[in-house]
Amino acid sequence: MSITTNLQNIQNAIATTAHSCGRDPADIKLLAVSKRHSKESIQEAIDAGQLHFGENYIQEAQEKCIAFKDVAFHFIGHVQSNKAKLAAELFSMVETVDRLKLAKVLNKHLEKIDKDLDILIQVNIGKDPKKYGVDPDETAALLQSIQPLSRIRPKGLMTMPPFSTDPAVTRSYFKALRLLSIDCADKKLFYDNENVELSMGMSHDFKIAIEEGSTSIRVGTAIFGERPNI
Ligand SMILES: *Cc1c(COP(=O)(O)O)cnc(C)c1O
Repeated sequence: MSITTNLQNIQNAIATTAHSCGRDPADIKLLAVSKRHSKESIQEAIDAGQLHFGENYIQEAQEKCIAFKDVAFHFIGHVQSNKAKLAAELFSMVETVDRLKLAKVLNKHLEKIDKDLDILIQVNIGKDPKKYGVDPDETAALLQSIQPLSRIRPKGLMTMPPFSTDPAVTRSYFKALRLLSIDCADKKLFYDNENVELSMGMSHDFKIAIEEGSTSIRVGTAIFGERPNI
């Protein structure tokens, strides 16, 4: 299967799933997760019309962001505070803000380079001790505390639920993230409380995520194949 065919198949699946639950497919963004994949693969996806990419490693992404200036890169990996400056410069969105300290470092550097940055709050929706993200119970407080930081724009929430082979369990996590986002929007904690973004769903579970309200799915393997071990 080629990257072009895979992208077509996923766009078809997005449309079918969206229609089946009464949603507009245009409200669901496909983020092509290109971590550990080559620039040739990214070029093939761009030639097929793909506009949004996700990367997990700042160093690796730096080269790609510079090589492909006409597409948007989202950062979806863990941001160490000492890499926050680079993250602020390179990406059109950082989806993994999970602590006030990181938000402050980002904001300070954004002031310096005179840039506004869209962010998502990464929520550890399953309270999994092995996963990054803010505890769901502390999400509203974190959003509250970043409000004075004028150069970051909290657009919504992102999550990676604990892996489960039971679709009902996965669904319950996605639903919990959506309910949390409604609660935070009611408290007016987002940049645009009428249009809150929910980044959830990957290769194996994006259909469930769309049914539960995802506005951005992050798909790697189903587009690019297995990741090479580099
Ligand atoms: C790697 C990664 C993905 C893509 O996962 P696939 O299973 O390859 O689709 C999505 N989100 C995050 C945060 C990732 O690290």
